[in-house]
Amino acid sequence: MAAPAAARAAKLLRAPALRPALLAARSQAFQLTSRRWLNLQEYQSKKLMSDYGVKVQRFFVADTANEALEAAKRLNAKEIVLKAQILAGGRGKGVFNSGLKGGVHLTKDPNVVGQLAKQMIGYNLATKQTPKEGVKVHKVMVAEALDIARETYLAILMDRSCNGPVLVGSPQGGVDIEEVAASNPELIFKEQIDIFEGIKDSQAQRMAENLGFLGPLKNQAADQIKKLYNLFLKVDATQVEVNPFGETPEGQVVCFDAKINFDDNAEFRQKNIFAMDDKSENEPIENEAARYDLKYIGLDGNIACFVNGAGLAMATCDIIFLNGGKPANFLDLGGGVKEAQVYQAFKLLTADPKVEAILVNIFGGIVNCAIIANGITKACRELELKVPLVVRLEGTNVQEAQRILRSSGLPITSAVDLEDAARKAVDSVSKK
Ligand code: GDP
Ligand code: MN
Repeated sequence: MAAPAAARAAKLLRAPALRPALLAARSQAFQLTSRRWLNLQEYQSKKLMSDYGVKVQRFFVADTANEALEAAKRLNAKEIVLKAQILAGGRGKGVFNSGLKGGVHLTKDPNVVGQLAKQMIGYNLATKQTPKEGVKVHKVMVAEALDIARETYLAILMDRSCNGPVLVGSPQGGVDIEEVAASNPELIFKEQIDIFEGIKDSQAQRMAENLGFLGPLKNQAADQIKKLYNLFLKVDATQVEVNPFGETPEGQVVCFDAKINFDDNAEFRQKNIFAMDDKSENEPIENEAARYDLKYIGLDGNIACFVNGAGLAMATCDIIFLNGGKPANFLDLGGGVKEAQVYQAFKLLTADPKVEAILVNIFGGIVNCAIIANGITKACRELELKVPLVVRLEGTNVQEAQRILRSSGLPITSAVDLEDAARKAVDSVSKK
């Protein structure tokens, strides 16, 4: 990589005036590039829980209002709870863009289930944990409602600072647990588990007691906690969160809500679970990119970036900012590149109407630059590229790559290093 430019960039990064913009862009990019732990919908998590002997309510899943109505009738329950299925929490207090308030509703009338489902399915539900515009609801859960006498909080997480699993619980559940942690930290209880020894009876009992389960309920809660831990371990979860972990007036301990995240490294041995991955909440363009083994991240500027590797993506983002521009997106090619992928990458990059210029910044370590160059010229011709294209290639077979680009006769601007590339890309946009 061009060391002098990187050194200059590093120095500029320390300039206080530039920091906010850079940090904002970086944190956004980091957030978006960070691993996407598999996260199942509530109904899928509850199915797993029930397979492991954890107590959940009877339920059906529906993707139309009519199906929801039928499910409500079939449940034949005293009371029904209807729950919008999205990956974010805080649904109870959420709002739909249909005007309906609340992503969780209780009713005794199956017809009301149908009417409410009509205002949920196909609409966006916005909660404290979603983007402002909310997340589109494709499915609803229709479950038998149970009375809740008390709501507690229980989670099992893989915690780096504890080198293993930790039980986290609070007798004050149902509500936002972060708020409890802030206002009443003494009401948050933890049990560190030795992953080799497993959960001890005494730990499960102590947590049950701390959660306020009394008498025979204490043993029942401890048993549920042990079963949840067993599930956590067997499915390679990174987090199992139950809020509320509640008790009914009849003396049942029940998991009323469920959120399970999984370790992506375990995909090879959790094929059935990963097959349930619900991609409907991804951006369609991300899914399309994933089909070609490309990673796409949408940002809000106007310069499309085609790079290889997350590090180079960050550097490219920074240097575009330093030159007064804003990235529109990133497409990360990764390692073993094929010409067809480069073509697909250009197709995806130019599909975004915000894009006014494309900056290719590829460092050929494993990647052969000539393959990239051939992919670029092919894409330019076939897609009849309308926006300026600035290309910076470096590394393996770069001379041949440059020859291919030069002799193509296409209006491609070559750049000698990253700084030069960023400046040219920013200039090509601002000149318009
Ligand atoms: P969240 O808002 O996304 O966390 O969704 P939850 O599944 O936790 O539901 C929100 C709230 O609805 C819970 O905290 C409960 O107070 C209430 N709730 C959910 N299911 C039932 C039920 O079966 N019976 C009763 N009485 N309340 C429920
Ligand atoms: Mn909840």
